Amino acid sequence: MKPDEGPDLLVAGAGGGLAGALRAHGLGLSVLVVEAGAAFRRSNNTSMSTAMIPGPGSRFQREAGLTDSPETFLADVRRKTHDDVDEVVATTVAGVGARLVEWLADDIGLPIELVTDFDYPGHSVHRCHTVPGRSGASMLGMLADAVEQAGIDVLAPARLVDVAPAVDGVTVATLEYPDGSTEQIGCGAVLLATNGYGADQELVQRHIPEIAGAVYHGSEHSRGDALRIGERLGAATGYLDGYQGHGGLTAGTGTLTTWATVMLGGVVVNRDGERFADETQGYSEFARLELGQPDAFAAVVFDERIHLACSVFEDYRQTQLMNGLRSADTLAGLAEQLGVPAGSLTATLEQVATVVTGGAADPHGRTGWPAAPLQGPWYGVRVQPALFHTQGGLRVDDGARVLDGAGAPIPGLYAAGGAAVGISGHGPAGYLAGNGLLTALGLSFVAAETAAQAAAVVADPAGGATGVTPDVTSGLPLARSR
Ligand SMILES: Cc1cc2nc3c(=O)[nH]c(=O)nc-3n(C[C@H](O)[C@H](O)[C@H](O)COP(=O)(O)OP(=O)(O)OC[C@H]3O[C@@H](n4cnc5c(N)ncnc54)[C@H](O)[C@@H]3O)c2cc1C
Repeated sequence: MKPDEGPDLLVAGAGGGLAGALRAHGLGLSVLVVEAGAAFRRSNNTSMSTAMIPGPGSRFQREAGLTDSPETFLADVRRKTHDDVDEVVATTVAGVGARLVEWLADDIGLPIELVTDFDYPGHSVHRCHTVPGRSGASMLGMLADAVEQAGIDVLAPARLVDVAPAVDGVTVATLEYPDGSTEQIGCGAVLLATNGYGADQELVQRHIPEIAGAVYHGSEHSRGDALRIGERLGAATGYLDGYQGHGGLTAGTGTLTTWATVMLGGVVVNRDGERFADETQGYSEFARLELGQPDAFAAVVFDERIHLACSVFEDYRQTQLMNGLRSADTLAGLAEQLGVPAGSLTATLEQVATVVTGGAADPHGRTGWPAAPLQGPWYGVRVQPALFHTQGGLRVDDGARVLDGAGAPIPGLYAAGGAAVGISGHGPAGYLAGNGLLTALGLSFVAAETAAQAAAVVADPAGGATGVTPDVTSGLPLARSR
């Protein structure tokens, strides 16, 4: 492909980037998706997720009788990050979340539903939207099908390895194929949606050494390519020590023991059968706490009520199918299966029952408890601390344009998802459920709209008086293909 035949927008990364590809296509841009992994539908972070997307103020919330707004979400984000968050990105994605989930439902045809059956830590209202099964693979599959149906080309496997600065409105992307050959493609703009650097042990060690000892449970292609490409172009970076950990990865199966087990009343014990922290503070920061326990051993213990409630999660069902779940009528029986001392586990659960019935304050300060004490039959899962994905990246503005060190947009370059600065602040504790997908799909969506506006200006330098068609849903001008 020669530069003048290239697409208006080249989207690198078929995770959250697919939302940007579809939005750009819907706005009249020609789009090419370039994806490093042939099996991306089952192996990137979006496919591995539980498909929870915050949409503060959505019509789904209104229909459920809930009041929410971007401001309320922002307040939650600021509280979770102790006011240390990229305000531009936080405000941008807070503002687009509701429109995003409604667009996914109405324009792309995703069977979006609001999760109201359990509280995600840190969210003051039910605002996570998902698809049936709560499976990222299923959601990504629907997006990929929509891309296919729209006739958007997906080049895979092909890795974006470099981007040359835009000259006369043409940005040149260099792709590398598995046989080592390379190709240059000219395009109107590049959206870096290649995720962060979780798979690059050297970068993890440099930026977040505290979690380098945990299992990495994310896409093997999250190698920091966007970071390297952006830095070569003079991009500013931020919050590189931000990450999402998880305290609920099932040991031995690699499936996710949903943190709903904990939020519904379960507890986490160490090798000695003892609790060591308030489990409801958040699954992300809990990974670091588990890593600090003897042998990094941890197990979630809960009861049948919780087991049944969690069976709506595909990940949890997989944990059960792959024999990650233990159960017994008695705590002694469960303790034996988990490999913890029976006496100690029994004492721990007795103390929890006292706290739940109001007989004592929790020594770890946990206040979120079920109405009644847990009771047998008992269930448990051995879990291991994990790093899921990184949350720092390239600085972007409210149009998802990558910024240079002086704060000016780098022409023709956008970033979204793990490639961009997230909204989780520093470390693991600022991560709210949904921060990953909201910035992945949300910033891609925003980037597509900004690119469409930019392309319309390029196509019609006189200012849009010659037949640029407005898009009725956003009010944006529809760009013409160059
Ligand atoms: C187990 C798990 C559960 C999670 N659950 C949730 C959840 O419920 N809600 C939530 O908000 N977040 C969740 N997250 C986080 C969320 O999945 C990520 O934050 C989000 O998917 C990131 O999207 P992305 O587009 O940046 O990355 P990805 O979805 O990983 O997409 C990036 C794509 O780029 C490709 N790629 C990489 N480098 C290149 C290159 N140089 N050229 C071309 N292609 C390239 C990769 O192969 C990949 O397909 C979870 C993460 C994990 C691991």
